[in-house]
Order: sequence, then C-alpha cells, then structure tokens
Amino acid sequence: MELRKDYILDRWVIIASGRGRRPQELREPDSSGKDLCFFCPGNEHLTPAEIGRIGNRKWRFRWFANKFPAVDILGNPDVRTDNTFFTFADAFGMHEIIVETPSKKKQLWDLGSAELAELFSIYKGRIAELSGRRSINYVAIFKNHGSKGGASLQHSHTQIIATAFIPQIVQQEADASGKPCRYCKIIDIEKGSFRRCFENADAVAFAPYASRFNYEVWLFPKRHVTSLADLTKEELSSLAKILLSILRKLKKLNAAYNYFLHYSPAGSDLHFHVEVTPRIANWAGFELSSGITINTVSPEDAARFYRGESEF
Ligand SMILES: [Zn+2]
Ligand SMILES: [Zn+2]
Repeated sequence: MELRKDYILDRWVIIASGRGRRPQELREPDSSGKDLCFFCPGNEHLTPAEIGRIGNRKWRFRWFANKFPAVDILGNPDVRTDNTFFTFADAFGMHEIIVETPSKKKQLWDLGSAELAELFSIYKGRIAELSGRRSINYVAIFKNHGSKGGASLQHSHTQIIATAFIPQIVQQEADASGKPCRYCKIIDIEKGSFRRCFENADAVAFAPYASRFNYEVWLFPKRHVTSLADLTKEELSSLAKILLSILRKLKKLNAAYNYFLHYSPAGSDLHFHVEVTPRIANWAGFELSSGITINTVSPEDAARFYRGESEF
C-alpha cells in the first residue's frame, strides 16, 4: 500500500490494490445462497483479533482491525521523492472497524440516541489510543451507509483510519477557521437562518450555505471545543440526539450517506464537528473536470425537509 503524490499538484492518493478483494455484498447478490456475515454474533472468529467490545458474550458494539486495510502499520511513513515527478510514502497507519449493533437487520438510524452517544464514546477512546501511537497524526472516523456511500457490507459499522498525514481538508479548515473561531460565528448566524435544521441546548445542525451534496448537513457543538474528548457527557448526549434526528430523516429518504468527524489536529484550534453527506446524486464529468459540484437540492430546501416543513 502506497501513498503517492500527483506529478506536480499537491494531490495524494492511496494505492491499495488488496482492497479490491474485499467482499462486495452490497454490489452483487450472494450467489452461494448462504448469508454468512462476518460482523454477526457467532462469527467473531472470522474477524481479525478483537480490540474491544461493549457488553460481554452478548456484545452491543465490537471493534477490530479491518481485514482489508487501506493502510498498514508495517510501513515507513516518511515521504520520499526522486525530486522530479515521483513522490511517495508507505501508506502507514491503522485501519479498524466498529460494528455498531449485533443485529444485521438494524441500521444506525434504528438505534437510540443513548446508543449513538455510546458509539461516539468509543470513537473518543479510539482517537485517544491511536493518536498516542508512533507517527500517527490524525485519526479519521467515518461511516459509509449503502452501496452509493461506499459500504461493501450491509451490517452497520464505522471505519477508522489512523494516518501519519493530516488530511488536507482538515488542515485547510483548521487554517481558514482562524482565531477567534469563525465557525463559532457561523453557528450563531446559521442557527437563526433559513438553513437551520435542528437545535438543542448544546448542539446545532444546519445545511451549509455552499452544500455540495443533496441534503448535506453539518452538526456542531455550540461550545468551542476542538475534540470529542472536550465534550461533557451532557453535550455528547445533545449531539447524539441531533445526529439521530438527522439519520431518521435520511431513513425516510432511504438515502445512502457518509458522515465523518473533523477534529482539530495538534497545534490548531478547529471547532469539532460532524459532516453528514447523503449520497443521492452521482458525481459526474463536470464535478471531476472542474472540482465544482452541481447540487440540485438547495440547502434552504434541505433545511425545510429536516425541520419537517416539507416531505422531501
Ligand atoms: Zn451481520
Ligand atoms: Zn468555534
């Protein structure tokens, strides 16, 4: 697995050909007729060694290394270059899976907000542990739901990829958010705008002004915190309640989606948040050629949907 930079642009890719071999349950029906799920209770021996679980024999959450990782702990994270066109590093890091429910019939939007808060507490623990490892500078936590969201297995799960590099978009947000925090201001404005979606005592969700995705929504704690670990129990619970409200709306659309956490890299002051990106439209030639997405659902309409003022 290799991290490679474009010839001349500051644009990176991971070449991970081994991931092509992972199961493709959501793409093609299982021709064997058997319904063997690696993430179901009873099949724990089929996953890589367990890292942790909540619950004993009857677990509710369980996490372990990804069997088809995009990064590898055995690599050398140093970026090497021949000073002309070929710049690379080993795709160094750890890749883990958190199974979010023992039931294959449930999706994350079927759980309760207390369970979502529990899941976020697991995220917090994984970030703390993985950040402490040699040469790890960021822990990306993201969820893929549905084949359009990039999920290859139906059984509900989150992925974690810890890397030596800080994702470019996270660093850009951290650099652009400034001091005092511009996101604090943005939250204050958007919670009263046509783009407001949900608000409770500690958290706010709104459809971002320049939404890239149909029904894109961002979820922020109101208080300026730079990581999940800085949230109080009450704030985490408030965040989970709003996330559940968002997911239940997406269930009505039966939408594939991703969500991901953005927290502050060391030395920055980025306001922690969760971005939810439904995957309804496909990115096509214009998006790829120009880097500009065409979004056919305005964020103002998306917000009306989340507020329950329109059906879709
Ligand atoms: Zn399963
Ligand atoms: Zn802030």
